[in-house]
Amino acid sequence: MKNNGNHFRKLCEAIPQQLWVADPTGALTYVNKRVTEYFSVSAEEIIGTGWQTLIHPGDLPAVIQKWTHAIQTGEPYKVDFRLKGADGVYRWHIGQALAEFDSNGQVTEWFGSNTDITDRKVSEQALLTTSQLLDQSQQIAKVGGWELNIITGDLFWTDETYRLHDTSPEKFNPTVDAGVSYFLPDSREIISQALDAAINECKGYDLELKTFTTQGRKIDIRTTCTVTQEGGKAVKLVGIFQDITDQKNTQRKLENINRELKQSNIDLEHIAHYDALTKLPNRSLLADRMQQAMIRSQRHGKAMAVAFLDLDGFKEINDTYGHTVGDNLLIHIASKMKEALRQEDSLARIGGDEFVAVLTDLVSPADGEPLIKRLLEAASERMIFDDKTVQVSASIGVTIYPQDGVDADQLLRHADHAMYLAKQAGKNCIHLFDVAQDIAVKAEREELGDIQRALDNNEFILFYQPKVNMRTGQVIGVEALIRWQHTERGLLPPAAFLSVIEDHPLSTKVGEWVLSTALNQMECWRLAGLDMPISVNISAFQLQQPDFTQRLEILLSQFPNTKPHNLELEILETSALEDIAEVSIVIDVCKELGIDFALDDFGTGYSSLAYLKQLPAGLLKIDQSFVRDMLEDPDDLAIIQGIIGLAAAFDRKVISEGVETIAHGEKLLLLGCTLAQGYGIARPMPAKAIPKWVKTWRPNKAWSNK
Ligand code: C2E
Ligand code: MG
Ligand code: MG
Repeated sequence: MKNNGNHFRKLCEAIPQQLWVADPTGALTYVNKRVTEYFSVSAEEIIGTGWQTLIHPGDLPAVIQKWTHAIQTGEPYKVDFRLKGADGVYRWHIGQALAEFDSNGQVTEWFGSNTDITDRKVSEQALLTTSQLLDQSQQIAKVGGWELNIITGDLFWTDETYRLHDTSPEKFNPTVDAGVSYFLPDSREIISQALDAAINECKGYDLELKTFTTQGRKIDIRTTCTVTQEGGKAVKLVGIFQDITDQKNTQRKLENINRELKQSNIDLEHIAHYDALTKLPNRSLLADRMQQAMIRSQRHGKAMAVAFLDLDGFKEINDTYGHTVGDNLLIHIASKMKEALRQEDSLARIGGDEFVAVLTDLVSPADGEPLIKRLLEAASERMIFDDKTVQVSASIGVTIYPQDGVDADQLLRHADHAMYLAKQAGKNCIHLFDVAQDIAVKAEREELGDIQRALDNNEFILFYQPKVNMRTGQVIGVEALIRWQHTERGLLPPAAFLSVIEDHPLSTKVGEWVLSTALNQMECWRLAGLDMPISVNISAFQLQQPDFTQRLEILLSQFPNTKPHNLELEILETSALEDIAEVSIVIDVCKELGIDFALDDFGTGYSSLAYLKQLPAGLLKIDQSFVRDMLEDPDDLAIIQGIIGLAAAFDRKVISEGVETIAHGEKLLLLGCTLAQGYGIARPMPAKAIPKWVKTWRPNKAWSNK
């Protein structure tokens, strides 16, 4: 037993807990080594006292209350409290004690222990903090959690899940069926299926649904589920339960705003693209439709007609009956015209009483004709407003794409132009735009522009072709012949460009350039010691300008050293005949200035005695077409003989042009024509080649004998 007592004592000293024994009043009678170590006191110092001074003041009331109760009742004592160690630090302990009783049931002794539970307390505290934090954040985020044990059927909700259901663990016992029953019917079906799939097929879910709370409040929720499996079977479902009512409300609000915005965009679009009165597309939408129709037409190789329609007499209706009647008429006509067209056609209102119809997918341009006629009829239908019968008609201009291969804007302009011609043709009719004419007009406009530019850029030059007396060998002058030194096409003869400006003021500009260039050249040669008469071709248009002679005089005055009689003007016989009286006056005036005329290409006009009498030109230039064939063609020879005779009779000089060979010259000399010009003598050449040519040229020997 002694041994046993020793063993127990040793044991008491060895265990890590503080052990103590106290009398029935609670005064300590024994403490083990852990106690003296912890407080760093000797056993004597602590025996006979209690713990009170060493207990944390915050824990003391509870300890006193428990200990008092134990002493009074003898019941076991158990309490958590903090004890201050020798180092001044409080550590958590669990104090426990059991009483020893005598045969009378009185407490004889207390046996107790203090076990350090600081580590447990710390982790308990940490856990508490974490779960509080979790609960708080769940509350803030309105996210609750749930867990379902599939084996036991136990459903666990976090506090927030209860709160989201407007309830608490005390008031509500969560079960799967109860939870599901609160969902709105549509959502209930979805969640039931989702839960089935989770349990039976281990499929998780993430859903946005609607549910009622236990208080009947409707909320939007997001609920998710992840499945834990064991051996391929679902054993546990864990998920969140989140109140997303606020987000959903915001989303719904945004959706509403979006819807409203979309609607007002549609309204705005309508205003931007439709005519408010007739509800027909306006000009801007028409442009779009035309673009699309043009693309389709190209793709399918079909034609498209653009009909520009302007009402005849609409202004009068407005003036007579007022704008209300006018507006009603427009609305009415618009709908009648729309009825007259096919589904695929477009009708737009682009101005007060102007409409445009675009007829697409026409196999041939003629296919549009009946439709346009129906438009014309629709526009001229008689209508009755307020007992007033009103009627107008329409003028329609039409152009067909791609025959008229221009852009949408120009198509409209062409149709508009054709409409204008329909008006001019008496209204209430259809006029088709003339594409060929338009192309020709455009080409001409372009060419005129080119010629004006050539003039501005100094691209014209004069070549000079000598005129000689075949018998004496005298060079009697040169003819100035225009050329165009074209930047891309090279040196162009007059036939390539003069016809374009024939009846255009530009021909006068070019003509004046030729005159002044020739006069200038004459002056240059004069200064170089060469006295060389120049003949200049004058177009009929220039000649017929009322101020022709005045302008010629001004020009001459710019070259005071030039002898006017060295300038000769060549006019075509044919053009001189256009206004014979006027031309003969011009010739007379010029003669007074000292300038003589030649009738060019003589023989191609009437060459009548009566005309010749009226035209006092000093020189007749036999047209080269007669000269060319005179050696083979007796008729041409006869004409030449006739002209030579005519010249002699009227005392005019005569010159042959187009003398290409010696033989031609010989024959002409025999006929009595000594003056000549032609490739057989010299080709037209640049001005700088003339002086040398003049110096070196000798007539053919065959000629001088004739
Ligand atoms: P034209 O006034 O009858 O001029 C003679 C034309 O015949 C020139 O042609 C000349 O190169 C060409 N020619 C001369 N000899 C021969 C020949 O032996 N055989 C052939 N086959 N042709 C010959 P070009 O220079 O082409 O001028 C053609 C026409 O253009 C001129 O005929 C004239 O009517 C007109 N022209 C030329 N320059 C001017 C000008 O400055 N102003 C105006 N208004 N017309 C001009
Ligand atoms: Mg000529
Ligand atoms: Mg000629």
